[in-house]
Amino acid sequence: MTSTSVTTSSTSRRSSASAVDTRLAGTPVHALWTSEADGDLREVGEGGLPAPVPRDLALRRVRQVHGADVVVVDTPVPVGTVPWASLLGRLPEADAVVASGDGFALAVLTADCASVALGSPEGVHAAVHVGWRGLGAGVLARAIDAMRALGATTVVAGLGPCIGPCCYEFSEVDLDGLMESSGPQARGRTTWGALSLDLPAAVRGQLSRSEVSIVAAAEVCTMCTPGYFSYRARGDEARQALLVWRRG
Ligand SMILES: [Zn+2]
Repeated sequence: MTSTSVTTSSTSRRSSASAVDTRLAGTPVHALWTSEADGDLREVGEGGLPAPVPRDLALRRVRQVHGADVVVVDTPVPVGTVPWASLLGRLPEADAVVASGDGFALAVLTADCASVALGSPEGVHAAVHVGWRGLGAGVLARAIDAMRALGATTVVAGLGPCIGPCCYEFSEVDLDGLMESSGPQARGRTTWGALSLDLPAAVRGQLSRSEVSIVAAAEVCTMCTPGYFSYRARGDEARQALLVWRRG
């Protein structure tokens, strides 16, 4: 799917959501967001990559810690980022993974947190895991900075399914901090009238501050929409995946 607005069905069947495969407009960068129907992707890459990810790519994923560290999987490696080559087989603790060349499938896993695919016309690309703590820590801006240091001119983004303001009840104190970094649109209301974090709007706010436009967005809440793993809805341990790769 290559449309600018990605929609998914939301019938009562839990298996109704389907994976979304898109090319980020104006770039050679592709993104795949899986859903519950694709199964638990915690061990993504074991037994092959999910279709339509090209089979010849090398998977690069991180051990997500809700921080702001950025791993770069090929060279050059910008100052302030972690080079993949130094890791000696261990999964790096980080929440963003960036590549400039092709040959890689970059992956992050989620069950309510936001997953953001980033790409540029030059083919620099990234997969970013953004929960509320990573949002506050500035993981998006750091990933975008790394991409620009690698030669990205225009950076565009795709936002996958994540928990929405309808469900993400939040304290006033924690919201205040996030509104500073993400703008007033981070403040939302749940369907039951409580204060909430509007995570997709906060992500949009931070992307806008970094002069990144969103070219694809799922616009779906993982907690109240059937067909997605949700930690907050059911304590799911299983995870959706975002995979990002470059062709051409
Ligand atoms: Zn919801």
